[in-house]
Amino acid sequence: MDVNDKKHLCSPCEFKSKTEIATKWCIECKEPLCVSCYENHNAHRSSRNHHVISVEGNQMLESLQIPLKEYCEVHDQEKDLYCSSHCEIICLTCTQTTHGKCEPAVRLSDVTKSAKTSTFVSMLESNITDVIDQLRDIIRNRENNKVEIEKQKTEILDAVNKYRKCINDKLDQVENIITEDLNEKCESSNLEIDNNVNFLNDHLNKFDEIRKKMDILKEYASDTQTFIGARALEKTLHYNESMLASFLELIQNINIDIEVNQGIFDTCADIKSFGDIRVNKLDTGHCHLQKNKGQYPVDHQLKLSKALEIKIPQESFFRSTILSCIILPNKQMIFVDSYVRNKRLIVLNEDGTHDRNINLTSNHLISQ
Ligand SMILES: [Zn+2]
Ligand SMILES: [Zn+2]
Ligand SMILES: [Zn+2]
Ligand SMILES: [Zn+2]
Repeated sequence: MDVNDKKHLCSPCEFKSKTEIATKWCIECKEPLCVSCYENHNAHRSSRNHHVISVEGNQMLESLQIPLKEYCEVHDQEKDLYCSSHCEIICLTCTQTTHGKCEPAVRLSDVTKSAKTSTFVSMLESNITDVIDQLRDIIRNRENNKVEIEKQKTEILDAVNKYRKCINDKLDQVENIITEDLNEKCESSNLEIDNNVNFLNDHLNKFDEIRKKMDILKEYASDTQTFIGARALEKTLHYNESMLASFLELIQNINIDIEVNQGIFDTCADIKSFGDIRVNKLDTGHCHLQKNKGQYPVDHQLKLSKALEIKIPQESFFRSTILSCIILPNKQMIFVDSYVRNKRLIVLNEDGTHDRNINLTSNHLISQ
């Protein structure tokens, strides 16, 4: 603790020119107190009921950085009274001016005696808890969304692979068909050539035979015999030559090529993608985060042990100016909605659900 810091020195002791470390803080006197001055403070009738806390506690309260006192700007003094007609914290001068015709103001400390156990505080606490819970749920839900997207990505990649395989299978299939066709046509062409070659070989043998016969005639036969024999061989040669000539007319050269199905290339050129990746955004329902408008009842008579969720009908919720609330003997709650075009009473059941509205228009009541 820094002894040079005046906030940490006992104020009454300092007044008596003594230096004493303060351990307590009186909220009413706004003064730091040492142990013995605190004991005196506690014994004194006028300060006996002051709210004294530890110096550390006071530092915690200061660290909140929220106003814990209200000042009246108009009358330049602390507001320490409560107008029950307006449910408003006011100053002493206010009671004679703007709140002159109201119910007599009471001391703020009297109204706030049970603040820590009031419906107001417990509802606020429960609403804070609700909002935190809902936010945690939403954050968890957003993280889950990432996991879902990752799963969807895997599914899409699997699907793309499947389409790809489908196309590969189709290409394999047409390749097999054309290979079989090619094999078949090569085979039948070879067969045709083989048949022709066989026919030609037969004729080759026949011509060879004629030549051999000519050789024998020339070797052994007389001239007359040779002449007669050669004439017979000439006939055979002539016959075979004419047979061969008509056969040779039928022989054709065989070439094999491919007439490409241009459609395949057109189809390939037409394929721009497997599909488009779409990002669909759907309403999550997160927008129903509870909104708290209007004031909660501040009433020292309210000592409900558990917080209620007040459900004021949604369509009128944003156009409500809730000023005050009373609780009926049957435990129904009546909220006064003083929105300028919509003056009415909102009746809620004990459990916080909406019962009915009572419109306050043209001096007569319309119950909804
Ligand atoms: Zn002291
Ligand atoms: Zn005090
Ligand atoms: Zn005032
Ligand atoms: Zn008033």
